[in-house]
Amino acid sequence: TMSTIAFIGLGNMGGPMAGNLVKAGHKVSAFDLSQPSKDAAAALGVGIAASAKDAVAEAEIVVTMLPAGKHVLGVWADILPAVKPGTLLIDSSTIDVESARKAHALAAERGCLSLDAPVSGGVGGAQGATLTFMVGGSTEAFKRGEPVLSAMGKKVVHCGDAGNGQAAKICNNMILGISMIGVSEAFVLAEKLGLSHQALFDVASTSSGQCWSLTTYCPVPGPVPTSPANNDYKPGFASALMLKDLKLAQEAAQAAGASTPLGAAAAQVYGLHNAWGEGGTDFSGIIHLLRGRGNG
Ligand code: NAD
Repeated sequence: TMSTIAFIGLGNMGGPMAGNLVKAGHKVSAFDLSQPSKDAAAALGVGIAASAKDAVAEAEIVVTMLPAGKHVLGVWADILPAVKPGTLLIDSSTIDVESARKAHALAAERGCLSLDAPVSGGVGGAQGATLTFMVGGSTEAFKRGEPVLSAMGKKVVHCGDAGNGQAAKICNNMILGISMIGVSEAFVLAEKLGLSHQALFDVASTSSGQCWSLTTYCPVPGPVPTSPANNDYKPGFASALMLKDLKLAQEAAQAAGASTPLGAAAAQVYGLHNAWGEGGTDFSGIIHLLRGRGNG
């Protein structure tokens, strides 16, 4: 069924996501601070409002897709007085677990349902409506939000109560960051030992070293023709975004008292990669840092 949806934050992800809601037959009223973002979304048929408050006035469901926790808390505090009671608020940004839980509390104070629903799948997934949503919040909120999220993605997973979508996202990406460094270190060691990339791949991809970082995003060109390594390490998943998620994982680990020594090391390694000016390259480009600068 068709819903009236407000969408705040029309950037690289939010713009095409709002466009897919229009495609699915929903009425979308949206806002962003940036004119180019508004223009790009308008070209996809998204209705543009004069302010965030105007955008949400008639909405049954509000979706936010913003950079970080402070933006989400700022926007939710701004719009909550203007929404109709009973509105469902969904935040799909990747933010810290603590801010996500604060946002849920703000919504509850106003008598609104809410979900944290961060995504994986990147800009391609946003454009093609093939995102995976990791969702935290009550069962009632999830039941209402699921059909709308399904119009923007191919998989919607209920991970538990408030904040658990963000928790799932950073736990997954911590595995990914660590495993990409592990796979890259193995290729660098193989090079030094005179073992070919293909031979290591043939063994590890069918042995206990098998993982997504090896078989889908293989950090050397050749063995997996579709991996970013074969395309000049263009993202894919940018190193800057991996660093953001690893830092969020470390924040959460410290707050919760979890011991994550390899997660901490991965955040350091990606911090160095970004300090090299490589934030815009795919995160599998970390192999260049491990080989040493100037060693190709
Ligand atoms: P982006 O920077 O392209 O877009 C963010 C948008 O928010 C911008 O258009 C900006 O103008 C707008 N904005 C900021 N403050 C605002 C405010 N107060 N009111 C209205 N608009 C405001 O970022 P993105 O790539 O679209 O990512 C959005 C979120 O999704 C981030 O949390 C990111 O970590 C996460 N994410 C991104 C990807 C990816 O591949 N790009 C993948 C998964 C998750």
